Amino acid sequence: MNNHPPTIDRRHFLALAAAAAATAQARGARGAASSPSIQPAPTGDSHRGPCVIASGNGMETVELAFDLLTKGTRPVEACVRGVALVEDNPNDMSVGLGGLPNEEGIIELDSACMDGPLHKAGSVGALQNIKNPAAVALEVLRRTDHVMLVGEGALKFARRMGFKEQDLHTEKSRAAWARWRANLNPNDKWLDTDQIINFNEPAWQSSDAQGGGLSSPRFYSLPLATPEKGPRGRAGERVPSSSSLPRAPWGRAGEGVPSSSLPPHITRDSHGVLHTTGTIHCSATNANQDVGCCTTTSGLAWKLPGRVGDSPIIGAGLYCDNAVGSAGATGRGESVIQTVGSAWIISAMEGGMTPTEACLAACKRIVDRTREPRFFDDNNRPRFSVTYYAVRKDGAYGSASILKGGQAAVCAGGKAVRLQSEFLYE
Ligand code: ASP
Repeated sequence: MNNHPPTIDRRHFLALAAAAAATAQARGARGAASSPSIQPAPTGDSHRGPCVIASGNGMETVELAFDLLTKGTRPVEACVRGVALVEDNPNDMSVGLGGLPNEEGIIELDSACMDGPLHKAGSVGALQNIKNPAAVALEVLRRTDHVMLVGEGALKFARRMGFKEQDLHTEKSRAAWARWRANLNPNDKWLDTDQIINFNEPAWQSSDAQGGGLSSPRFYSLPLATPEKGPRGRAGERVPSSSSLPRAPWGRAGEGVPSSSLPPHITRDSHGVLHTTGTIHCSATNANQDVGCCTTTSGLAWKLPGRVGDSPIIGAGLYCDNAVGSAGATGRGESVIQTVGSAWIISAMEGGMTPTEACLAACKRIVDRTREPRFFDDNNRPRFSVTYYAVRKDGAYGSASILKGGQAAVCAGGKAVRLQSEFLYE
């Protein structure tokens, strides 16, 4: 493995491609490498003027933030108000209301924002019960001498600022957690999703159900576990073999789906367990070339309680410098933290890389520094992804991810456009 990542010519995209190819070759030593693919430079790098970029789930966010920018709202506040649309949306399971919970089923939110002109940040980690953590982070920035508040302290602060506490679970997020938990370990005491008793289902209402057999043809039509070998059933019980049932797209589910067909926010670890990520980042530059940014998330689904990801960490999940621009990340937060991703992108842009080049190089930096074999599949393709988003103060913008499929939302006036992120691996 190449321990010395090649230096990337700051001005030439082709040099970056060569460097990525060198990495692929280096990975070949451990097996057949899947070749990182470098796409032609996209148009974002040549854009100039006010502009807002967000992760792909932020189409409405960028339109609102851009509108606010043109009305004179400070970029950081425009971003915070823009991402609130996604935090408020119960159907977006990556953020705020309806966000996916931790391993205990509790929703813990992370968020941060940063103001370019003051070079000042605010942040909250592992915040419970408040659906707009980005707005709380903005109050930390505006009203305190601190940068980061976490857990109970962050909640107390939010209460004192008048934020309303509420149950952030939705039926969908609860069900997703229950599915994940049920599929986690075939030997635990949690019934698999398809074995959970639902009294409203006809199958469980008939007297047969109590007599040791399921009456539903749905179950009979599926292959049954042989009593002695059944993973759960006692001899004589008609318990469907859990491995024969269609599985929910979480936990061990998704077996049979090639990793390369999974969307980048769902990745498979070396045990075959799928992990879901999701977040919204938003970066903006206005007509004065002042910048600001915000990242907000419910974090990695099923995380350990108390785990804080990259999103509320200044320099990792977001960073801006009014002399240069603004950047942020979504995806596997641990990788972003350990490479100080967003701060590195700002330095790379300061050194002359375009936003797209800097994002792509930051992705490559992660891959080059990931040493544990569990993070690569048999073809040496990373099992995880990160997507970066960046805007330079003059309005040039770009995005790149480790695995193909990352998307950004961009608004530079009028309707938002969707940008396919550059990527390293198909
Ligand atoms: N970066 C977030 C985290 O690690 C998750 C995500 O973006 O999907 O908490």
